[in-house]
Amino acid sequence: MISVGDRVLLVDPRGKRYLVKVEDKEFHTDLGILNLGELIGKPYGAKIQSHRGETFTALKPDINDIIAKMRRGPQIVHPKDAGIIIAYAGISPGDTVIEAGAGSGALTIFLANAVGPTGKVISYEVRKDFYEIAKKNVELAGFSDRVVLKNKSIYDGIDEKEADHIVLDLPQPENVLPHAVDVLRPGGYFVAYTPCMNQVHRFFRALEEFKGEFMRPRVVEVLVREQEVKRECMRPKTTMLAHTGYITFLRKL
Ligand code: SAM
Repeated sequence: MISVGDRVLLVDPRGKRYLVKVEDKEFHTDLGILNLGELIGKPYGAKIQSHRGETFTALKPDINDIIAKMRRGPQIVHPKDAGIIIAYAGISPGDTVIEAGAGSGALTIFLANAVGPTGKVISYEVRKDFYEIAKKNVELAGFSDRVVLKNKSIYDGIDEKEADHIVLDLPQPENVLPHAVDVLRPGGYFVAYTPCMNQVHRFFRALEEFKGEFMRPRVVEVLVREQEVKRECMRPKTTMLAHTGYITFLRKL
């Protein structure tokens, strides 16, 4: 049942989505005014009408809805990349993940969702303004119970003594290698997301010093080609998100 204070995703007849907080108040759209109080006590999937007679459906928002609507600081990790990070590193309920930089908190939210209520994500963010944005976004997603945000540089060291995985989206992941070898459990993953190939190259040069500590690295790039499905023709969409980043996976021995 929908209660006062819940976040609800309203979907209008065109498929346009609005993330709203349920209160006894009006919500104005270009298809008319809605009284959000009408949703209180109704189940998700309930429909309400605007004063112009347009029907809106109230859904329970998932993490993708939250990420799509939340405030952004720096560029976020795309869901296609977050998905493969979680799948290839085997990030599971109950795991402790150390992350940096939190940025807008998108990857933090994906990780928090994967580790579940018994897991922990400890995320370092060096910039105070991005730390504040990430904190608010994690709260919006309802994951403050399992996420600890730290406004500090992970290059200076990792406070935690043990972690199942370390996941990085920052310019110089090689700076974290010396700290990671002390903290990562055997079998745990060190994941580095970097947009540029020269960053991967620099990382591999630094890795030579730590060769004995990890299994053979794996680097992937994820391409998702969406399809256009029409009655008379099915074909790949003309435009595509061509490149986001390279993802390097190291497994601790
Ligand atoms: N993965 C994030 C998301 O999905 O929202 C976006 C991360 S953003 C591209 C990179 C972040 O790393 C920036 O917010 C930057 O301030 C942070 N950063 C850079 N160096 C850092 C360091 N040494 N320690 C912690 N954070 C750092």
